[in-house]
Amino acid sequence: MTPVVEKLGAAVEDWVQAHTAQLVAVRRHLHAHPELAYAEFETTAYLEQRLREAGLSPRRLPTGTGLVVEVGEGPGPTVVLRGDIDALPLADLKDVPYASTRQGLCHACGHDVHTTVVLGVALALATLDGLPGRVRCIFQPAEETLPGGATEVVSAGVLDGASRAFALHCDPSVPVGRIGLRTGAITAACDRLDVTLTGPGGHTARPHLTVDLVDALGRLITELPGLLSRQVDPRAGMSLVWGSVDAGVAANAIPQRGTLRGTVRVLDRDAWQGAEELLRSLVAKVAAPSGAAVEVDYVRGVPPVVNDPRSVALLRAAALETVGGDEVVLSPQSMGGEDFGWFAERLPIALARLGTHGGGAPLDLHRGTFDVDERAIPLGVLLLARTALHALEADAAVLHPQAAPPPGRTGRHEAGDTAGRPPVEETHRG
Ligand SMILES: [Zn+2]
Ligand SMILES: [Zn+2]
Repeated sequence: MTPVVEKLGAAVEDWVQAHTAQLVAVRRHLHAHPELAYAEFETTAYLEQRLREAGLSPRRLPTGTGLVVEVGEGPGPTVVLRGDIDALPLADLKDVPYASTRQGLCHACGHDVHTTVVLGVALALATLDGLPGRVRCIFQPAEETLPGGATEVVSAGVLDGASRAFALHCDPSVPVGRIGLRTGAITAACDRLDVTLTGPGGHTARPHLTVDLVDALGRLITELPGLLSRQVDPRAGMSLVWGSVDAGVAANAIPQRGTLRGTVRVLDRDAWQGAEELLRSLVAKVAAPSGAAVEVDYVRGVPPVVNDPRSVALLRAAALETVGGDEVVLSPQSMGGEDFGWFAERLPIALARLGTHGGGAPLDLHRGTFDVDERAIPLGVLLLARTALHALEADAAVLHPQAAPPPGRTGRHEAGDTAGRPPVEETHRG
């Protein structure tokens, strides 16, 4: 660690200690006022106000909701930190003072925490002098949709000029005080598959004279996952799970229409590229003998988040300073999807897992009972703030490899320190 990073990191630590209660209050406010994807208007206005009060100049994203704000000025690299701001269409089942005040809406994926953490970093860094570059904080809408608000952030050029991007996600399977890291894929690709079958309908006494639509749906339900397991390398981890089936009303009438809806998840990015074509052909083959007309609506969702090794090393350096070596753990690859993976189309990325389990029964994500141990919030701020400082130092060395350290920056890299190497050229782009 260079003296500059050490000094600024210590200043962030002081800020976090003095502002932990405010950070928790922000999180509780967000939790009590959840908003759905692309409708995060109040959340956006709330964040905008906090940032302006700190003398920062946030801009609305082209998505209508969400913000981008830069902290720091002058030359030097730009590092992106991303928080997601949307909630889920779920009822909040918790009996806590900060429970959702909006019926049927809940921050059940911890995005209130991610938002609070990135806001905290922006506010903390705004108090510092001599930031060796710029930290661009993105408050991104609509993570819970497919293909996700991240696609619009990427296509609108919000990442332009930045050297790398970081994010974190709450992990309720990890105790609070621990940080999970992983190089390579840390989440899975996730697509959505809707299949609609149609036929003439008829009497259940005479299935041979019509298309037995419910039987055909049943074959798709049971045969498709099995066929997939024989068509795809098992190591690719491709899994189809149905979440919805809808057909018919009467016990003795064959319906004219039926629909299946499910998700296709893939651990491997290359296998994901071929998933749509494969699923379309398998659906057609399995449904063909029934005679039903088949319509497939396949939505390309999100790629896996593939963590860049160099960026993970920067996260690790920050995690070691924040929680110590014993509490930095290897995170398994999750079958969950996360649209932050789209950011890797433009720059190296890394996502960390923030332990939020405070004891008792595990509280899984996407349930109305989900909650976090709020001690995770100041740790998240320290982690991402320090990560940004390390990244600015490392990427400044890439920008100006021959230049003497500018005033205020005393860091020269030690022998064997890889911080001066250019960012690893991604093999997973495209
Ligand atoms: Zn989620
Ligand atoms: Zn999430």
